[in-house]
Order: sequence, then structure tokens, then C-alpha cells
Amino acid sequence: MGLIIYLNGSFVSEEDAKISVFDHGFLYGDGIFEGIRAYHGRVFKLEEHLKRLYESAKSINLTIGINKKEMQEVILETLRQNGLKDAYIRLVVSRGKGDLGLDPRKCSKATIICIAAQIKLFEPSMYEQGLEVKTVAIRRNNPDSLNPRIKSLNYLNNILAKIESTQAGVIEAIMLTQDGYVAEGTADNIFIYRNDVLLTPPLSAGILEGITRNTVIRLAKELKIEVKEELFTRHDLYTADECFLTGTAAELIPVIDADGREIGDGVPGPAFKQLLEAFRTHTHVDGPDIYSNLETNV
Ligand code: PMP
Repeated sequence: MGLIIYLNGSFVSEEDAKISVFDHGFLYGDGIFEGIRAYHGRVFKLEEHLKRLYESAKSINLTIGINKKEMQEVILETLRQNGLKDAYIRLVVSRGKGDLGLDPRKCSKATIICIAAQIKLFEPSMYEQGLEVKTVAIRRNNPDSLNPRIKSLNYLNNILAKIESTQAGVIEAIMLTQDGYVAEGTADNIFIYRNDVLLTPPLSAGILEGITRNTVIRLAKELKIEVKEELFTRHDLYTADECFLTGTAAELIPVIDADGREIGDGVPGPAFKQLLEAFRTHTHVDGPDIYSNLETNV
């Protein structure tokens, strides 16, 4: 059975969820999106995701047309329509239908799509064994050109990185900043654990402000793990005791090899395991309840 999709105010079948070929999201990647997860009947970190979506919209001067509260209802109702308690939610807001020119003033109304589905990003064994990453030649977008803090529909930078790593037989790519510091993965932030300190690149490096990243930083502090948001190099990555990636889709996934250098003992380390456990526990309690508590504080 197909999914029920939210499209511009209506719930329609997957087959009927169609948008114009003149939509500027399609023609130019002019739009923004969010990836959100529901766990155990709750939408995890919903407030944070809505905040980031509306901030991305503001940054690209896009009028979404509905407010955060209405958007929250769109998400909850999409989950209800599909009878889902655990799901990955994709929210897309494009500039809408325009003409063949790129002038956004020709687009009178944003297109809003919400899809809720079950996904499996990496094989379950990878969470146990860890994965290999490759630092790629393509650099993360220069923040002065397209700021990575905007979760825009333009993911070519990330896709080119992914192509480079997969062609080298490695599933995930790590992009460096314009200055050659470690930035982030193609859809995930990066952490290393080195000399008893958890390190992750700062926002000023030109990365997406990951919501899983922020959650991990908070949980680490609660666990009395020292955390620093600091630039680090490939050398720091190669010689780290532990490394892992964070993202809504990927969750927390251990990295055991970078560019052919074994990280630590080549197995998921104790800091990672401790943080993963804390993260899993946290997913039980955070976010609005999809099926009962409809009151929220967005
Ligand atoms: N970096 C990039 C480039 C991403 O696309 C994502 C996925 N949204 C992340 C990091 C992780 O962000 P989050 O934890 O909010 O999913």
C-alpha cells in the first residue's frame, strides 16, 4: 500500500502527489527541507527542526505561508494518516511554481510537501561494527556563497562528495572546509574523541547545525564528558581514539577507519557507546505525542 502524502493543504495518495515541472524547487533547487524522526509515537526534537526550517526560509527570503503551529499539525497529521509511530519525516518547502527564469518573484506561493515513511539508511551491522569514511577532494560549500547552515534543496556539494567516496569503495565521505579542516559528512556531523575530550567542528567552520549534534553535545555534558566545538585536522581524525557521525537519518554511527587509517582500536569505543545509550533513552521522552497530546508549546 502506498503512502499518504501531504501536498499544499491536502492529503493525497503517493500516485497523486505531483508538482509542476515549473516548480523552482525542481528547476533550481530553490527551497529548503527538514529530515525529522518520530520515535515511540513522539516527534523527536520537533521544535528545533521547525526553528531551523523557519530560519532557513528567512535566510533565503522564502515565505512559507503557514506558521510553525500549522506546520507542526501538518507533520503530526501526516504521521496519523499513515498510522506511523516510528518514522522518518521529510518536509520540503520550495519557492513554488514560477516560469523558466530564476527570478523568485515569479513564484507566487511556496510548495509544501510532507512525507512520512520508514527508512533504513545503513545496514544494522554497521552500527555494531562501525563504518569507513573517506575525506574527499570536494570542499564543503564556502559559507559566503551558500551557507551550509541553510538546509537548502541544493545538495550537489554533498552529492559530489558521496560520488567521490562511493567510487573509491567507501560508503561515506567527509568534506573539509575551504581551509582544509574537517567539516562534516554528506548528511551528518562528525565527532572525534581524543585525549579524553569530545571534539566537533564549530558552526563557524561552515557546517549544518545538526540537531543530533546539538543533542549529543548536551548529553555529553550531562555525562560529564568534556566537549569542545573546535576546528580539527585530518591528522587529529586519524589519531583520534574514537570517531562517530550524527544525523537524524544516520542517528549515531561509529567510524572505525578514515582514509585507510584505523581509528583507535578499530571498534566502536566506550564514549560512543555511552552516548548512543543516552541518545536512545532520550528518544523515549522528547517531543510531542502524535496520538494523544495535541497541545504543544511551539
Ligand atoms: N550535515 C548535513 C549536511 C546534513 O544534511 C545533515 C542532515 N540533516 C546533518 C549534518 C545532520 O543534521 P541533523 O542532526 O539535524 O539531522
